[in-house]
Amino acid sequence: MRDVTQTPDEETPYECFDCGNVVFAEDNPEPCSNCGSEMRNRQTPIE
Ligand SMILES: [Zn+2]
Repeated sequence: MRDVTQTPDEETPYECFDCGNVVFAEDNPEPCSNCGSEMRNRQTPIE
């Protein structure tokens, strides 16, 4: 047995389109606290 806690709802990093500010949120985060731009999920590739 290992003393490691697994978090099922792990927070996802979101990165600001504009300034590159990174925040962690479980769902869609608020607009960038730095510049107010839209945040994008860093784990989702953009086509
Ligand atoms: Zn920003």
